[in-house]
This record gives sequence, C-alpha cells and structure tokens, in this order.
Amino acid sequence: MSLPPTIGVSSAVQRAAEYAGPVAPERFVRLTAEGLSWATPCQARLRFGREGRQRQVHCEIRGALTLRCEPCEKLFAREVNITTQWTLVESDEAELAALAHAEPVRFEDDQLAVDEALEQELILDLPVVARCPACERTLAEAPSNLTPGGPTHKPFAGLRLGKQ
Ligand SMILES: [Zn+2]
Repeated sequence: MSLPPTIGVSSAVQRAAEYAGPVAPERFVRLTAEGLSWATPCQARLRFGREGRQRQVHCEIRGALTLRCEPCEKLFAREVNITTQWTLVESDEAELAALAHAEPVRFEDDQLAVDEALEQELILDLPVVARCPACERTLAEAPSNLTPGGPTHKPFAGLRLGKQ
C-alpha cells in the first residue's frame, strides 16, 4: 500500500498493515520552508503492530537531502537512512510514561499524522553543522584546528525548537 498522509491507527494495528512508497517533498512543510530539497527522492515504509498493550510502528526512511556545507558552502547530498520504532500514544500521560524506554509519537482521534511524524524524524536526523565529505575529512585530519567550543552557527536549531 502506498503512503497516505494520515493513517487510521486502530485498523492499521489490527491488520498489521504495512505502507510503503515515495513521499513527495512538499509533504514536508517545515523542511520545504527551510529550503531543503531532495537529491534522492524520499521513500518511507511503515509497519504497524502491537507489543503487549503498546501499539507500535516500525519506521524506515530513505533518500538523500541536499544540504549546504557550512565551511565551504558547496551543496552536497547527505544520505538519509533512518530505522526506528515508534510507540503510538494518545495522551500526555502515555507520552511521558513511554519516553524513558521508547520513542513516543502522538496521534489524535485514531489518526496518525504520517507526514508530521516522518518530518520530525528527518529534522532530528539533520546534522548540527552540515559538512560535505571533503570538509568532514579535513576536520578529521586536523582536529587541532577546531575552535574551542565548536561552531556557534547552527542553521537547523530553529527547526529543532519548533514544537509540532
Ligand atoms: Zn565542504
């Protein structure tokens, strides 16, 4: 089944449904607003299931985002290769309870907002400082050149702070 923007949780868990397919860039509102584009189109796979009383989703996201390297300002493709497990929660209490040992993802009125949940994973996966492979190598070879405290410019900090 292709990947709809929202999924009915009860039915998907009951059927152990699996959804996979491309996710068009414009479905990621915050990334698009930040000017990020995809070098390799995004593909995602969600597999619904249950572990004890917990409703869970196995989540995989693949593709490559085009980022601008901070040191040299060249554009480069950064691979996205995320595999994670969501625990679906409906309330603040359940979210807090799950937080210690799982990755809680909220849903409301039995609907999981797929695009938002995927986008949150992508944002958490962004590097604090974007560096192309060449600059990454330079940094690894010359660690003494690092300024104490590291870089202060964090372009994606705003995105991370944004509450969804
Ligand atoms: Zn670079």
